[in-house]
Amino acid sequence: MRKINKLLVANRGEIALRVMRTAREMGIKTVAVYSEADRNALHVRYADEAVCIGPAASSESYLRGDKIIDVCKKLGVDAIHPGYGFLSENAKFSQMVKDAGLLFVGPSAESIEIMGDKLSAKRAAAKYKIPMVPGTPDAVTDRAEAKAIASQIGYPVLIKASAGGGGKGMRIVENEEEFDEQMERAVSEAISAFGDGAVFVEKYVASPRHIEIQVLGDQHGNIIYLFERECSVQRRHQKVVEEAPSSCLTPEIREAMGKCAVDVARSCGYYGAGTVEFIVDDQLNFYFLEMNTRLQVEHPVTEMITGVDLVRQMIYIAEGQELQLKQEDLEINGHAMEIRVYAEDPTNNFLPDVGNLKTYVRPQGNGVRVDDGFEQGMDIPIYYDPMIAKLITHAATRQESIDKMVRAIDEYEITGVQTTLAFCRFVMLHEAFTSGNFDTHFVKHYFIPEVLKREANQEEIEVAAALVAYLMNQTKQPTSGSTTVPVAAKSKWKTNRVK
Ligand code: ADP
Repeated sequence: MRKINKLLVANRGEIALRVMRTAREMGIKTVAVYSEADRNALHVRYADEAVCIGPAASSESYLRGDKIIDVCKKLGVDAIHPGYGFLSENAKFSQMVKDAGLLFVGPSAESIEIMGDKLSAKRAAAKYKIPMVPGTPDAVTDRAEAKAIASQIGYPVLIKASAGGGGKGMRIVENEEEFDEQMERAVSEAISAFGDGAVFVEKYVASPRHIEIQVLGDQHGNIIYLFERECSVQRRHQKVVEEAPSSCLTPEIREAMGKCAVDVARSCGYYGAGTVEFIVDDQLNFYFLEMNTRLQVEHPVTEMITGVDLVRQMIYIAEGQELQLKQEDLEINGHAMEIRVYAEDPTNNFLPDVGNLKTYVRPQGNGVRVDDGFEQGMDIPIYYDPMIAKLITHAATRQESIDKMVRAIDEYEITGVQTTLAFCRFVMLHEAFTSGNFDTHFVKHYFIPEVLKREANQEEIEVAAALVAYLMNQTKQPTSGSTTVPVAAKSKWKTNRVK
């Protein structure tokens, strides 16, 4: 047991703030590090102490483990929380932190190493009876051999980069004729993105849902699961809408998946907060995909339905405390939704649209949580992930949580950049989503960007018509002194979004 008195958060933006808030609640002093592009960032202002560690490029700042450890030594820091992204799943960094005599608020270097590679993760998990998608047990480099395996598995197949992440290095192959070309592309994508061309072949699951289980393990061998998050609404294999619980699991399957997730964690001696990802087919068969050895972006939905502060638990675990939470005490309370508000243009293939946040007003109210790192007038830097915020709602039922999300989206005022808000609103109101009958192809199947363009135009027409009517009314009754603003002209973000 070693108490943490001063914590450095090796991250930026909303996750840095989120971690520091919990630390402050626990009476722990906080230290921020930042790049030159983040001088005015909120996490820098929030921290008790803040140190600039280099230029904007993350390779010269947020990824410089050596500089971060130096800051810890100078300021008498006891522990580092890595957040997500950057150094959070870097086994070498976890080891460097330990070797410097500091606590790493996350798993051991060994666990990260095993789970960081999709193939070694599958090998470790195979010690337990974990269902896995049929595929090659090892990396394949020989094209003819890979092709032979693909025909055995049966098309369609997926070629995946072993070192892959963030939806990169993945290629669907529909039939044998396409195989050579797709394999070549997958290998070159894997080399350029991860510096490692190892790929493997896996059965492509049709109509899959992405469901993941949150786990927490301490350093004494206790591991529990905190139910699931459904993350099936994705663009480019990356999540945009997440919820907990999933609308399709039965209590029996939930329990079976939870137990498998605990076994996966056990297979690599895991401690800390982690996520075991599964893919679920339309018959509710589930298969292990990979384990993420860090806190996930979408962790708030789990916090909302369980009432557990995951960062607080991570800190206890890093201090060497035993988990006080018991599996049998955990239960699901209500339903939580999260949308990711990215500075992206959904009508232009979700391309980043960074710039200045001219207007930025957060929604509020019962059951509404906003995790963000910006204020009105700030610039969204081009150097990092263009996520502005996470908007989370919590209510008694799934439909109430959706209703709350639509209301919160409508009250979110953002101008200056395009955002994914209108797209997420479209998802919330779509019959396939509200009925719970959707899969990872939601965007491909249902989203037509023109819908948002039409809506924006329609909105403009309505506002213009209402203003004309209002002005005509004013000229007709010059002495009425009416100050009533026409209803359509009050409509907020959708019209604000038009640059
Ligand atoms: P990454 O590490 O790049 O996020 P994952 O293995 O977690 O890669 O997969 C990301 C997404 O790709 C999944 O959520 C799912 O939508 C899709 N996917 C992965 N494996 C399969 C598969 N075997 N069949 C169908 N879709 C898959």
